[in-house]
Amino acid sequence: MAGYSTIKAGGPAAALIEPRSMAELAALVRGLHENRVKWMVLGGGSNVLVADEGFAGVVLHLGRRFGAIAEAGGQDGSVLVTVEAGCSLARLVNWCLERELAGLEFASGIPGSIGGAVVMNAGAWGREIGSLVEKVTVVDGDGNIAGIEGASIPFRYRSWGLAEQVVAAVTLRLEKGRRQEIEAACHELARRRRGTQPLDKPSAGSFFKNPPAGPAAGKLIEDAGLKGYRIGDAMVSPKHANFIVNMGHASAADLLALMDVVREKVMAMSGIWLEPEVRIIGDRKG
Ligand SMILES: Cc1cc2nc3c(=O)[nH]c(=O)nc-3n(C[C@H](O)[C@H](O)[C@H](O)COP(=O)(O)OP(=O)(O)OC[C@H]3O[C@@H](n4cnc5c(N)ncnc54)[C@H](O)[C@@H]3O)c2cc1C
Repeated sequence: MAGYSTIKAGGPAAALIEPRSMAELAALVRGLHENRVKWMVLGGGSNVLVADEGFAGVVLHLGRRFGAIAEAGGQDGSVLVTVEAGCSLARLVNWCLERELAGLEFASGIPGSIGGAVVMNAGAWGREIGSLVEKVTVVDGDGNIAGIEGASIPFRYRSWGLAEQVVAAVTLRLEKGRRQEIEAACHELARRRRGTQPLDKPSAGSFFKNPPAGPAAGKLIEDAGLKGYRIGDAMVSPKHANFIVNMGHASAADLLALMDVVREKVMAMSGIWLEPEVRIIGDRKG
């Protein structure tokens, strides 16, 4: 799975399937459920760390083949856009820019798919994707397709708050904007990102969630003296302490051992037990 995750580590999955349509996806989930096969969904792999032992099940990879975007009407001066879950945020932001649709600028520079962004309630610069979601089309564990109104989704910090199911498509409510302004905002936020994040090294973004109160995770890790701390090729980024970066050939075991050290040292220093934002997948031995 190293090739399917931005942190570039992790062992194999038993199988990986890329559905190309909603019907194919629903039939697959139904078949896997009926045959009691373990499965999971993967989008851009930008918020996961797969154990070296791998994942003993089927990975349903929603990528470019599951990435159609279309306008879906408008209401009260806003424009609805429906996008399949595998579309990358980068492509969607660009598509919106071309059509002068505003609202998604904050997501410029967040890697991964729109499906992953909704499940993680991805956010930046004080905004979150959940605030734009009008409707989500899901495939439940039995393979049934259903629609969920955005207003009924209990979005919270880095979670959409619902039980695991496949996000197949998302309808966002955007506003008519001006190309120049949208483009300028995207460029400015990308510039700020480049200035503060180690974008030249493989990572899974912010490794830990910020605690509900008090200093941010990065500040706690920095104050624990851990910037630059290294186990094998896994390192706490000297540029941003909440990024654990892969300096070349880090194994998932190295990355997880570093995660443990960070949590223990921050706990000893501040009494705060950091929770990973990154989803850890597969069976970790030891
Ligand atoms: C350099 C860098 C910068 C980042 N900056 C930010 C940031 O500013 N803000 C932020 O919030 N995040 C950030 N991230 C983290 C990450 O990009 C987001 O969480 C992103 O939304 C994850 O999307 P993904 O498709 O890659 O999800 P994946 O990593 O593929 O999956 C993440 C989780 O979502 C589930 N999932 C994925 N797709 C679906 C689906 N269609 N249906 C059901 N479940 C699904 C997976 O099973 C997994 O549990 C950053 C990551 C990197 C590497």
